[in-house]
Amino acid sequence: MTKPYDPATLAVRAGQERSQFGEHSEALYLTSSFVFESAAQAAARFSGEEEGNVYARFTNPTVTMLNQRLAALEGAEGCVSTASGMSAILATVMALMKAGEHIVASRSIFGATQQLFGNIFSRFGIETSFVEATNIEAYRAALKPNTRLVFVETPSNPLTEVIDIAAVAEVAHAGGALLAVDNCFCTPILQRPLEMGADLVIHSATKYLDGQGRVLGGAVCGSKALTEEVFKFLRTAGPTLSPFNAWVILKGLETLKIRMEAQSANALELARRLEAHPQVARVFYPGLPSHPQHALAMRQQKTGGAIVSFDVKGGRAEAWRVVDNCRLLSITANLGDTKTTITHPASTTHGRISAEARAAAGISEGLLRIAVGLESVADIEADLLRGLGGS
Ligand SMILES: *Cc1c(COP(=O)(O)O)cnc(C)c1O
Repeated sequence: MTKPYDPATLAVRAGQERSQFGEHSEALYLTSSFVFESAAQAAARFSGEEEGNVYARFTNPTVTMLNQRLAALEGAEGCVSTASGMSAILATVMALMKAGEHIVASRSIFGATQQLFGNIFSRFGIETSFVEATNIEAYRAALKPNTRLVFVETPSNPLTEVIDIAAVAEVAHAGGALLAVDNCFCTPILQRPLEMGADLVIHSATKYLDGQGRVLGGAVCGSKALTEEVFKFLRTAGPTLSPFNAWVILKGLETLKIRMEAQSANALELARRLEAHPQVARVFYPGLPSHPQHALAMRQQKTGGAIVSFDVKGGRAEAWRVVDNCRLLSITANLGDTKTTITHPASTTHGRISAEARAAAGISEGLLRIAVGLESVADIEADLLRGLGGS
């Protein structure tokens, strides 16, 4: 089941394959290897002549169900899941690139992705140019004859900058490069990058796809040809997703649509209330008309998403006061959970970059990032207000 169904239906139903027992819910196959009926069948499975499971580093039926469900949701021909979001990015580059080639990436990507591109791939002869996220001409100017991949994340973390996916896809393709979009913040419920011209969608399933903070996981979605290459790397190199984690994420996907809608609605309401607060200098949320790329965001995404950042007047001391007065919100750098989380980026996720680089990136000392969950928005607001301008 793929084409005629709504995402709400795909999230619940797509990709399921029942065993001989006719179980209603998706089965969890905790097995690392598979048994053959004969020597001839073993040989045929190994040679690829016959389709079927061999060893769980290659395939496992629970993992396959997740791959099929995610592919259906992203509108992709293929999907390969991985042990984490970072291993999805690692596998993509290892599978599709070689030494001497070049990546163009938006400057505001996830910290570990920046490290992977800037400090690790560079040791193996793959260089990355980082460009200003929302400046389309900067991507064009950074392209080189050996550019193989353009990599963006939209909306960005923590400032929620929105990148025009169709425009970057055009630039990448004109330069002979592929476009990969990290769709972690929006999920396929809010944004479908492949329909806008992207070649690959990358996920940290650890975030909204699981949605309840239980497991690590990742995925790469795209054409059959590209995802086959990623699969070949994974089955050899090994950062595959465990069947247990695949099963948890499969069940997480069933509530993805209602979670994304409810968490987005909470985020919009919270953003509006914060914007009206005298102690708040600025709110960053793509769903607010005050956001610099509001019109683009509303074209490209179904909602503004569930991440709201805001700048507290008074810098770090006041921002920390807000954090320290929270009784309900979790002080953690994670996001994409039904439980609302609060982070002070300047001293945590972005704490290791220099103060100048931070300032240049727009991450001020008063900035707080809220990954809005499913609690009542009034309770979330009350938790934040306790430390906001209080004494
Ligand atoms: C968390 C995250 C990642 C990395 O995913 P892991 O599952 O932690 O490896 C990549 N991109 C974005 C945008 C993320 O938020």
